[in-house]
Amino acid sequence: MNRRAIVAANWKMNGNSALVDTMVSGLHNISLSDNVDVVICPSFVYLSELAHKLKENSLENTIALGAQNVSDKASGAFTGEVSTDMLQECSVKFVIVGHSERRELYKETSTQVAHKVATVLNAGLTPILCIGESESERATEQTEVVLSSQLQPVIDEIGIEKFKDVVIAYEPVWAIGTGKTASKEMAQETHQFIRQFLAQCDAEIANKVPLLYGGSVNASNCEALFAQADIDGGLIGGASLKVDEFSVICSAAK
Ligand code: PGA
Repeated sequence: MNRRAIVAANWKMNGNSALVDTMVSGLHNISLSDNVDVVICPSFVYLSELAHKLKENSLENTIALGAQNVSDKASGAFTGEVSTDMLQECSVKFVIVGHSERRELYKETSTQVAHKVATVLNAGLTPILCIGESESERATEQTEVVLSSQLQPVIDEIGIEKFKDVVIAYEPVWAIGTGKTASKEMAQETHQFIRQFLAQCDAEIANKVPLLYGGSVNASNCEALFAQADIDGGLIGGASLKVDEFSVICSAAK
């Protein structure tokens, strides 16, 4: 099965205009396989600037823009929120939904995450749906139960058919920003579980969904992770802030 590979940068609440500049000039001559999409998700504040700079450097067809979050409301009195229409005006194509930091720190529930996935799809954008277990859940062998409970509300909300337009990022919470990466075997086993879980509803769709690994991916471990049968790229946090390292990671995706 030839799925597209995706390498997505999640800048989180990091970066500034200088990083936008450094990244665009540093990625100017990036070498990518034809099959690979690169996405950069800066803070909302820098989306327009990044869109503009990518265009100025003729990189708008090489590097796509993503947002780190979105509202599930269309417009109105929702102070501090950002809508899909607003993201589209900034040339955004992808939206990270349900990152574990949103789930943990901002108490986003799997039901809210499912609404957001539906909103993003309805706007014609691509959700990067994040799922993952905590350290204690892994230790008590709850990983599959947790992942199922994060996926099922989304399947119930949008139906399995629409997963053809969804990207899933498996990010074990204990591996995020900690330097502890899942071994390639563990990551593959969990990705395979996710694909099999979707395949119970529709095997053909399950085979098409890009599954990204996230959690302390770096220039040294990316190649082994990306070589796994069910890993179709990565969602990269810390290492996406360093242009040289991010370039190596993008070039490792096939
Ligand atoms: P990390 O973050 O690469 O810094 O572990 C990944 C993420 O949270 O998306």
